[in-house]
Amino acid sequence: MRVVDFFEPANRRILTLKPGKERLVANRHPWIFAGAIARESGPEEAAIADLVDPRGRRVASGFHSLHSQIRVRALTFGDEVLTEETLRERMVSSIARRLGSGLKSKVPGEHPSNDRHFSALSTLDLTPNAMRVINAEGDELSGLTVDRYDDLAVVEIANAGLEQLRPMINDVLRRELALRGIWWKNDIGLRFRVDPPSGQKTGFFLDQRENRALTRTLASGRRVLNLFSYSGAFGVYAAAGGAASVENVDISAGAIEVARQNHALNGFDDASFVVADAFDYVRKTASRFDLLICDPPAFAKSRGDIDRAARGYKDINLFAMKLLDPGARMLTFSCSGHMSLDLFQKVIFSAAQDAGRRVAFVRRLTAAPDHPVSLFCPEGEYLKGFLLEVR
Ligand code: SAH
Repeated sequence: MRVVDFFEPANRRILTLKPGKERLVANRHPWIFAGAIARESGPEEAAIADLVDPRGRRVASGFHSLHSQIRVRALTFGDEVLTEETLRERMVSSIARRLGSGLKSKVPGEHPSNDRHFSALSTLDLTPNAMRVINAEGDELSGLTVDRYDDLAVVEIANAGLEQLRPMINDVLRRELALRGIWWKNDIGLRFRVDPPSGQKTGFFLDQRENRALTRTLASGRRVLNLFSYSGAFGVYAAAGGAASVENVDISAGAIEVARQNHALNGFDDASFVVADAFDYVRKTASRFDLLICDPPAFAKSRGDIDRAARGYKDINLFAMKLLDPGARMLTFSCSGHMSLDLFQKVIFSAAQDAGRRVAFVRRLTAAPDHPVSLFCPEGEYLKGFLLEVR
């Protein structure tokens, strides 16, 4: 898997201050606004920026955003070098300050319940299992807020550059806090390139909007396979939800190229992209997954096609299920207007049976509400699917 090193000099944006604006960072204030910048160079999508004075000397480094008013959220100043290690260290020590482990030596068995909680309670009088473990500027991490509710962490990110460092944030939080899940609450929307003339249908499948949002909430820490990925939109949402890995598969090299661009546009360059026939791929891959999206094109173009289409849906779902570890989730769809929900459910049942898996559906899935269906033309209800739990 290709991983972009956002801290590499070549991957950093260089912002040059207007003359006299050096005083802005003299007192380690972290916010550098667009109005203070004279010129800039380097990759627009950079996660990290170096701020330099008019003579080219570095005066600060921090999280970069191309479009916000706050262009840099500085973390280090002057000669200090901002590395991934700096960032990890800040997160770890911020968490340690809350848990009190920096204040007390931990003697095993000293406290019968949980010594970390106990020391936090005794030193800071916080609710021990619910607390803000990272408080942005207050912990020298401008742009990052993390609240911990027992074994759930809620992460709020206020900067596009930091958004790209999610895998790292995910990694640190999971190491430092015994978590069941991470909820990513971000105000920064995901972005997609839409090209109506060359794209499929109108250029993007808007009907899957809500199902992608659902995918985002299910993805944390999971290994995700996105079959029939087209624009890679499900993959981007999964990556935004903190997936451990994302693999997109489509038979069209052009579609895979668009998927790659859409991941890059959102800073998720570490996903993988495979040009392959999904039917072959699910038979051959040695990888295992715990969240799978299967959104093929309509296999039944007409009523007469239904038997053949049903065999196609069964085949792909059967082999997809075999790739899943117990506890995995799967979103599986049919967008054939001729395939009824009832028949699709039977097909999935028969795939599960042949795959030897016990499967329950958690939710039925449909098109988003901006795709109303006329009661007088029920054929308009083409998109149907299930959120499955595969045991
Ligand atoms: N899931 C996508 C939409 C998929 S459209 C989204 O969220 O936008 C169907 C896609 O399946 C197309 O991109 C098409 O290129 C691809 N496709 C068609 N037959 C395929 C096959 N046999 N193997 C893999 N991909 C296939």
